[in-house]
Amino acid sequence: MLTSKLEMIVSDKTIDVFSGPTTVHYRWRSPSVILEFFLCLVFALSSAAPRSDGVELTSEPLRLMELHLDSAIERGLPIAWDAKQVKLLRVDGSIGEFDPNAIRRHQVLDQAFVPDSAIQMRGQLQREFGKRYSVEGGGNFAIVAPTETVRLWTQRFTQLDRSFQNYFSTRGFQLRPAEFPLVGIVFPSQKEFMQYALQTGSKLPTGTVGYYSIATNRLYLYEMRGNAEAEREALMTVWHEAAHQLAFNRGIHQRLSDPPRWMPEGLASIFEAPGMMSQRTTMDPADLINASRWGQWKKLAESPEKMASLLDSMIRDDRLFRSQPSDAYAIAWGVSLYLAERDTNDYMQYLRKLSKLSPGVDYPETARIRDFQSAFNTSSLMLVKSADRFLQGL
Ligand SMILES: [Zn+2]
Repeated sequence: MLTSKLEMIVSDKTIDVFSGPTTVHYRWRSPSVILEFFLCLVFALSSAAPRSDGVELTSEPLRLMELHLDSAIERGLPIAWDAKQVKLLRVDGSIGEFDPNAIRRHQVLDQAFVPDSAIQMRGQLQREFGKRYSVEGGGNFAIVAPTETVRLWTQRFTQLDRSFQNYFSTRGFQLRPAEFPLVGIVFPSQKEFMQYALQTGSKLPTGTVGYYSIATNRLYLYEMRGNAEAEREALMTVWHEAAHQLAFNRGIHQRLSDPPRWMPEGLASIFEAPGMMSQRTTMDPADLINASRWGQWKKLAESPEKMASLLDSMIRDDRLFRSQPSDAYAIAWGVSLYLAERDTNDYMQYLRKLSKLSPGVDYPETARIRDFQSAFNTSSLMLVKSADRFLQGL
């Protein structure tokens, strides 16, 4: 399961659990087998279907495949199929992973693949979580939360959805519609949150306040009560994870591709700042500051050469996120915010390029460096110095 490979990043104050593609490397023998429609399912649903074992190339709508396993029958679209694994995209947006040896037979059904509608999804969630919870829709989200607080959470997620949409549309990046309703589950307590994670195969470290799973495409969090400061910090992590979920579902990244980690993390960190959840049309620039990254940024900025070499390493590979997570997150945040605000066209162009990375195909160091340099045409030293001037001026 993808969820069993959660990568845990412990930062200064919060723990960011991101079951990202960087931890799950997909290597198929033939990348051409990987279904191209994953790049844009909406488009694919009304045009050409890809080919996979048992799926004919056709201009008809994509049809469901049924897998007969030893213990169950699964339906969905095969998005990877080789001797080691089969991945199936289900109509609720989750991705199931199966051992090909466990599949007794498979057949293509005379039934189109149609993603669950918001109403269908809400009905299913209500049945799944029972009477203690209510389900409401807001923007692209379907929120499951205790009945007393579901309205508050739905409003918050609707606001984030709107901010996210505005942030990109005003910067010239046209987001695509989410193919599936984005499910956010709010547990009433940490205990229930941790228990659910355990039951569903995710081993979370103590202190986790929320996570987004690429496998289930759901966001999980719990209500923190009593300590205003702790709650504020927990919410920052929640918006960070929700920004990952939005980015993966609205065409900024793809759930099975492998962009340089600083990019998704930097982008999600931008959305931790209080200004991003503001309802005002004009934002106080100081509200763009992400307080939990700013302290570390300032320390690093005292030696720009060293900071530039750390940035170089993040452009090249993702190791810094494991060895020095606080530094990696701070640099990813500051550089991304600077680029998004002051080198907007180049940054958006770079995001567009990375959004087209093929799922399941490695993105080697040489290509990472080349694409970064051709996008921004500057040295890392110049970049960290400019970013620092920009951030100091907010
Ligand atoms: Zn993250």
